[in-house]
Amino acid sequence: ASTARRHLSTAQSLPPTYEKLFNKYSEVRRVLGKQRLTLAEKILYGHLHNVEESLLNNTDNGRSIRGRANLRLNPDRVNMQDASAQMALLQFMSCNLARPAIPASIHCDHLIVGYKGAEGDLEAGIQTNKEVFEFLESAARKYGMDFWPPGAGIIHQTVLENYALPGLMMLGTDSHSPNAGGLTTITIGVGGADAVEALVGAPWELKAPKILGVELTGKLNDWVSPKDVILRLAGELTVRGGTGSIIEYFGSGVETLSLTGKSTICNMFSQPAEVGATTSIFPYTDSSARYLEATSRSQAVRNIETLQKFPGSGADKDAYFRFSADEGAEYDQVIRIDLSTLEPHINGPFTPDLAIPLSKFKETVKDQQWPEKLSAGLIGSCTNSSYEDMTRVESLLKQAAAAGLKPSADFYITPGSEQIRATLERDGTLKTFEGAGGIVLSNACGPCIGQWKRKDGVEKGTPNAILTSYNRNFRGRNDGNPDTMNFLASPEIVTAMAFAGSTTFNPMTDVIKTPDGKDFRFSAPHGLEGPETPFEPGSESLRVLSQEADANTQVAISPTSERLAFLDPFPPFPGSDLSGLRVLVKITGKCTTDTISAAGPWLKYKGHLPNISTNTLNTAINAETGEVNAAYDLDGSKHTIPDLGQLWKDRGQEWLVVAEHNYGEGSAREHAALQPRYLGARIVLVKSFARIHETNLKKQGVVPLTFENEADFDKIAAGDQVATVGLYEMLQNGGKGTVQVKVTKDSGEEILIPTKHAVTKDQAGFILAGSALNLLSKGL
Ligand code: SF4
Repeated sequence: ASTARRHLSTAQSLPPTYEKLFNKYSEVRRVLGKQRLTLAEKILYGHLHNVEESLLNNTDNGRSIRGRANLRLNPDRVNMQDASAQMALLQFMSCNLARPAIPASIHCDHLIVGYKGAEGDLEAGIQTNKEVFEFLESAARKYGMDFWPPGAGIIHQTVLENYALPGLMMLGTDSHSPNAGGLTTITIGVGGADAVEALVGAPWELKAPKILGVELTGKLNDWVSPKDVILRLAGELTVRGGTGSIIEYFGSGVETLSLTGKSTICNMFSQPAEVGATTSIFPYTDSSARYLEATSRSQAVRNIETLQKFPGSGADKDAYFRFSADEGAEYDQVIRIDLSTLEPHINGPFTPDLAIPLSKFKETVKDQQWPEKLSAGLIGSCTNSSYEDMTRVESLLKQAAAAGLKPSADFYITPGSEQIRATLERDGTLKTFEGAGGIVLSNACGPCIGQWKRKDGVEKGTPNAILTSYNRNFRGRNDGNPDTMNFLASPEIVTAMAFAGSTTFNPMTDVIKTPDGKDFRFSAPHGLEGPETPFEPGSESLRVLSQEADANTQVAISPTSERLAFLDPFPPFPGSDLSGLRVLVKITGKCTTDTISAAGPWLKYKGHLPNISTNTLNTAINAETGEVNAAYDLDGSKHTIPDLGQLWKDRGQEWLVVAEHNYGEGSAREHAALQPRYLGARIVLVKSFARIHETNLKKQGVVPLTFENEADFDKIAAGDQVATVGLYEMLQNGGKGTVQVKVTKDSGEEILIPTKHAVTKDQAGFILAGSALNLLSKGL
């Protein structure tokens, strides 16, 4: 009774999110007893839909759930960027709900090209993508979601400045969403379908992650920045090293980092690109409190103090909710980094985990015969445009200006948000950038996502080197040129090397000749953690549009649009086994989500399922003919795979594809499941699946089956007629039971092929309902 009373008084003094977190946490403590918890576990388990179901039924002591149990979680909010928000919103609209179950925001940032500079680029981007932005804004109005117009900022910076709060759990429809982990939130990058599940209020499932601890000690030296922590770690962990794990930082070195520095480190630990981690998180420190104050959130600081001081169930000190790991909490793996001995790193080209210490970079460039001329330096983006980053760069620019130097390579700056841009303008930093000949781009993704129109005349196919302070450097990532070698570094290193115009320049040791022939060496950069007066909000037209849901708003989609189309819910599963299906195509070799739904120029059709479906499997290899993108109708006529899919859809002929191993590997692209479903696929029968894609198929109502005997792959051919045996019964029994496929050849010969499936009870419900959304939206 006394515990209950104490909970009550906490509830009265805390905002609802913290009251909920605290009460869940108390339940977790009751179930797990004295089990030591990491910070990530406290926050994650504090968002369990049903604590006992997830923790008690799945574990003998709480520990064994890592990497095994399926957690059902209730996130606090969803943040969406403009490219992925389109399909997420179209799916949400198909549920016919008045508003989302949790707060959500839309950020227009990915579709703006970086070219001449902020003003002109923004206007051009708005004109090119007008219908998409109008659609997003009207949907935001109708459903009461926050809308950040083009130019307001990049999703992760805006979220950090406005929505991230210690202890929250958020989903973001972008892989660099973990950025907010710097401010002690659990923020996970997901696809649109997952985001919609959370928006309709359904618990969101996550395999209980392992916890990888990174202990930081010491303090960064003057040329070294938080970016170097992550560049060095990426080298150690590689792009797959963090898979299935949350990366949690701890140790005395954590206290020495600025809040924005912590976010930069979290930003790059994304799923699935840099180290493949689920997310990453830092404890709450003094710099976190300072950032909350500077971003006008003093009340949050007081709430956190109250939450951390409250004694919970009394005697046990772990009953306090602390934004740090319990003493003695165990990590599945620990990596140790002494910040005092860390040196700047440059990672690349073409992969973010090729980490090279600055002192070794010159010789590596020469050994590898990489271009010695540096063509461009680009700083900023969601990763590295904090006040601290920019003022440290400013200190270098001022030194160079005093020596009469200008950058020898093109130099671009992308502010992460209007707030940071306006504050830098007010404090004179932008003027310094412009004085140095830097081009300040709009507050949007631009060159970081291939939206970069180069001014230096470097043509596609020309090898050249660029340095960025961004987070990704896959081929073609910035300018679409696969021969652009893109290296990642801190903004300070990028800037100093842009002055030298050389990839072999080491700013810590080397000199540049000034116009009057003197040797100039940069002194180490220095900057301010944050502005001396609070951040400027900036232009009024670039602020958030925030309002209650307005049912009378018409969502703006033109019936003649080529980029957007309303989505009809998929029909439910028939009340019997499937019969009369035909094999559309039998595929050999790798079949990634990119093979199933290509990106590049197709991205502009992300909100138009019929149009984007015309790329379905268009790079798949026909196992029977060896041709790419070729399929044969029953009369022997040749078509492209998507054309035949569409022909069969029009004819009402449902189909399946047959393929080999690891079908659907690559990014978790939901279109790779939506498109086949739209064109009439009922089954995908393969030797093995990539796990996330297999789940995505089930969410869209497609049945993924694997061959019990791989050799049966040879028994089935394109055009064969297929029926299922036991599938309907298995679905009705919540995933229990076996399924066979009966293959009928043109000759009349029948072959029974045994298959395996991994359909759970929930997923059986999704398939029967036609899709996960059909079911989840009904349950509310
Ligand atoms: Fe993604 Fe780059 Fe935009 Fe950041 S700036 S959200 S990494 S595209």
